[in-house]
Amino acid sequence: MDPYTHESPPSGGLPQRQYIAGNEALKCSVTGCASTRYRTSPFCRSHYSAWSRYGGIGRRHLPAEPIRRIQKEVMDLLQDPMQVHHPGLQVAVQGLQRLFRSKAVHEDPKLDLLRRLANAGADPLDVIAITAAVYCHLWRTDPEAYEDGDYTAAQVGRLLGKLAPLKHRGGGELRSLRRSRAMVGAILERIGPLVSLIITTLERDRRARNGKRRYRRKPVDEQCEQHGQCDHFDEDDHNMEQYEA
Ligand SMILES: [Zn+2]
Repeated sequence: MDPYTHESPPSGGLPQRQYIAGNEALKCSVTGCASTRYRTSPFCRSHYSAWSRYGGIGRRHLPAEPIRRIQKEVMDLLQDPMQVHHPGLQVAVQGLQRLFRSKAVHEDPKLDLLRRLANAGADPLDVIAITAAVYCHLWRTDPEAYEDGDYTAAQVGRLLGKLAPLKHRGGGELRSLRRSRAMVGAILERIGPLVSLIITTLERDRRARNGKRRYRRKPVDEQCEQHGQCDHFDEDDHNMEQYEA
């Protein structure tokens, strides 16, 4: 069993109680950890709690500032008069609205995080902006984490949870990764294609901005010296174009 998927344990037909007793006699599957396992988990209690909270052993929460900045970029993009009627955006917003009203969300115990969002009247645009910001940040900084479904579910789940904060402290502190995954999975079914499109668009804009900045910084006499006539900004560009050609 992949210890990180944490799917239903291979109980081999044993009653749950017996399976737990057997599992709890085994060592935690994190290398170097001497503790015994917690319930049906492949981890000891403290590694299980870290895995549930962060979405991976040895991982940490995403830094707030870059996420907030990208979230604002996404929101500006979604509210741009050129994009407001984009069919992909309309499909995503209507998909989330339907999801929030759906019977499953209001009855399935596994979807309680989503129910909290729906009941708090979360704005679909915020849900899209937060989700896209997490994926876009990871796309830029940590491709391995971008591919890690547990980590992305835990982080998107945590940030979306802030749209519908619990009124009291204490209850529900031990996050259920299974529930975050259920919520994020249902959301991505509606907005996944839009999120990919947003990442591509932001990356394209970022490259365009970086290109302009580089151009402004270069004094004229530092332009490509090899070819007085050519219009490359500098020799790197010149060489790159030769390479690509
Ligand atoms: Zn452990």
